[in-house]
Amino acid sequence: MNKAIYVPVEEQNEEDRKWMAEALAMAQEALDNEEVPVGCVFVRDGQAIARARNRTNEWRNATLHAELEAIDHLLPFNPPPLSAITLYVTVEPCVMCASALRQVGIGRVVYGCGNDRFGGCGSVLDVSTSDMLDTHAPFEAVGGFYREEAIMMLRRFYMSENQNAPNPKKKASRVLKTEIAPMPSSATASSATTPASSRSTSVAPGDKLLPLPMPIGGTLVSTPRGMTPAPGGQQ
Ligand SMILES: [Zn+2]
Repeated sequence: MNKAIYVPVEEQNEEDRKWMAEALAMAQEALDNEEVPVGCVFVRDGQAIARARNRTNEWRNATLHAELEAIDHLLPFNPPPLSAITLYVTVEPCVMCASALRQVGIGRVVYGCGNDRFGGCGSVLDVSTSDMLDTHAPFEAVGGFYREEAIMMLRRFYMSENQNAPNPKKKASRVLKTEIAPMPSSATASSATTPASSRSTSVAPGDKLLPLPMPIGGTLVSTPRGMTPAPGGQQ
């Protein structure tokens, strides 16, 4: 059951949208480098302390997802819990990353589009808030921020041929689908960790907009605190 929580566009605040735009810029950099376009920014006190984007193909390590690598950079300077930090990521964190985020005590997660196949913030499993995980506090996770842009980036990636994949698939004949279904409908907020006034619970069967043929997330490299990446810079 899809328990992902989406904030209607009209209820999104400018601060969140501003940071998501920066996460999207990181995702675009990934796309430009033929990586699954997922980008993220970790923010504390109104400042970016880490930025990351997918580098799955570059490192050929499916476990080094963006969020995890950014956490590796953050922890030496920010001992858990990271309750004062908000993660902005263009795609809902997967189950693995959601678990890690909960274990380090992330304060809040804001994402773009849902992840119907691997989402750990409600789309597949509610690792973010499940009572079954009682060793670490739940965290707030809300989606829908620049959702269409995040979806279109993913579609553009999967439209193209992934030259770095173990078994590249020819997809040149596909037509880029531009129609995007509306955000899962708003309903009564039910998250115990979030104020009811600013968000809604998705009760729709699911955000079926992401025909993802492979896990989302991938390897990302983050930038240590206080640093901003060089324009177009890569390692
Ligand atoms: Zn992940």
